[in-house]
Parts: sequence; structure tokens; C-alpha cells
Amino acid sequence: MSVLIKGKELSEKIVENIAQEVKNYEKKPGLTVIIVGDNPASRVYVNKKKTTAEKAGFNSAVIELPEDVSQQELETHIDVLNKEDTVDGILVQLPLPKHISTYDILERIKPEKDVDGFHPINVGRLVIGLKPYAVSCTPFGIIKLLEENNIEIEGKHAVVIGRSNIVGKPVASLLLNRNATVTVCHSKTASLRRICMQADILVAAVGIAKFVKADWVKPGAVVIDVGINRTEEGKLVGDVDFEEVSKKAGYITPVPGGVGPMTIAMLLANTLELFKLHNNL
Ligand code: NAD
Repeated sequence: MSVLIKGKELSEKIVENIAQEVKNYEKKPGLTVIIVGDNPASRVYVNKKKTTAEKAGFNSAVIELPEDVSQQELETHIDVLNKEDTVDGILVQLPLPKHISTYDILERIKPEKDVDGFHPINVGRLVIGLKPYAVSCTPFGIIKLLEENNIEIEGKHAVVIGRSNIVGKPVASLLLNRNATVTVCHSKTASLRRICMQADILVAAVGIAKFVKADWVKPGAVVIDVGINRTEEGKLVGDVDFEEVSKKAGYITPVPGGVGPMTIAMLLANTLELFKLHNNL
């Protein structure tokens, strides 16, 4: 049976430490989230972000915009927030409606306030190995989980399944920057199982329930499950067949309680960093 990598506990510790630090400051870190439309999953995520930020003593605000908001109107909101002193981090909840250009919106956010690390400047800095203003929260949380569990990255073969801009690509860059040998797999990858079998660290960010099976996993491997999928019965499951894979892996993240809670903890950590940057602390 593998060792459980407990993201819930670590994230609670991180949020608690942040809350303690924030108490020392007269001014409070400010996080504003913009949500467009009525996507129920997005609403759940945004509420969780707001309540956790408040728990840590942040000034937290949510701007709710209708599904048919224009590109220009959304950009105007960002322009105002870019100039607002009390706002350290701006997050636009994705996905956005089809008529909005997501790339233009992400690029509109000032890189120094881009708490999600999605601005091309922050992505570029990450890829060339310079410190970004903020690192994309889920990949950053994955690295924290590995580091806090004393899992060595350097020299290991890390296989990432998924090449999204939100998870797959940034986590691959972070692993590469820490001297792992990284293979990125995706929907057109041939011999996926054979490649996964070579992984010392396997990151699954696919979005297909229980996609990774036990016979894809090298005995003792570290398996990081990023997936959040709902079964027909409404149960939350990851991209990894946890029941079978946990008998074979050395370490594994559960779903829920693994990578998920780390995402919000890292969002707060990023906001705090930007707050310190803006206030020369
Ligand atoms: P995405 O849909 O943008 O990307 C999925 C990736 O999987 C793509 O790159 C695609 O090429 C690859 N893929 C699809 N089918 C495949 C196949 N058959 N074989 C190999 N690769 C295949 O998704 P995403 O935004 O990267 O999210 C992935 C999963 O992670 C989802 O379940 C999502 O809900 C979850 N997620 C969790 C968190 C968190 O906080 N825990 C954050 C972001 C995303």
C-alpha cells in the first residue's frame, strides 16, 4: 500500500501560517476574483477561494458579471483593478464564455497582479527559469506536495499526462527547472502506457475518471492525481484508479484531499507574495 500524500493537511498548515503572517501587517492583502456567467462548478470554486481568503485575513472581493458581458466591459473591470492600490491579486475564473478571448483577458491583467500566473510574461519567465511574479496555483501546489513529502525530483523521470496551459505545461516546466527528465503526454501520444510505466513521478491531468490503471505504474512510483471528475452517482474521483494504483505506487495523492486543496493554498501564498512586493515588505 502506498503512502498517502495529504494535500488537505498541508494546505491547512499553509493557510494557517499565512493567516499568522497577515496578522503582523496593518494593511491586508487584497484578492479580487472576477466570475462571468453561471457555471455551477466555477461558483463553487470562487466561493471557496473567497471564504479561504477571508479566513486568512485577506480583503477578498468577487465581481460577478453576466454571461453576455462584452470583452470591452470585462477589460475595463481589469483596468480598474490594475490601478487599484488595495488589490494585490486579480483572478479571472476560467472558463470564460466563447465570445470572450481568454488570451486577451489574461494578458490584460498586470503581470504583477496576475495571481494565477497565466500572463504570458509570467509563463515566459517560468519557462526560461526566471522567477515569475506568480506561479500557476495547481502546478505550484503539486511541487509543494512533492517537496514537503521529501520526494526527490532531480534526476527522476517525470511523466505528465496532459498539456493544458493550466496544469500540464506549467507543471512540466516546474519539474524541468528542478532537474527532472520530463516527458509530456497528451491525447495524441502513442504508447502512453509504455511511457507511463517508466515514470518515477507520474502526474495525471487528463480529466477522465480513473484513466490511469495499475499496470501503467512502475512499482514504487510517485503518483500525483490532478483530476476532478464526478461519477454518475455524484462521487468525486480523480484521473487515477486509486483503489488499484495505491496497491502499487510508492506515494499517491487522494481525490478529494490531495492536489485540490493545495490550489487554493497556493493562491493565497501567491497573493501574499504580490502584497509584499507591492508594499516593499
Ligand atoms: P484540459 O481538458 O485542458 O486538458 C486535458 C489534457 O489531457 C489535454 O492536454 C489532452 O491532450 C490530455 N488528454 C485528453 N485525453 C487524453 C488521452 N486519452 N490520453 C492522453 N492524454 C489525454 O484539462 P486541465 O484543465 O488540464 O485539467 C485536467 C484535470 O485536472 C481535470 O479533471 C480538471 O478538473 C483537473 N483540475 C484540477 C485542479 C485542481 O485544483 N485539483 C485544477 C485544474 C484542473
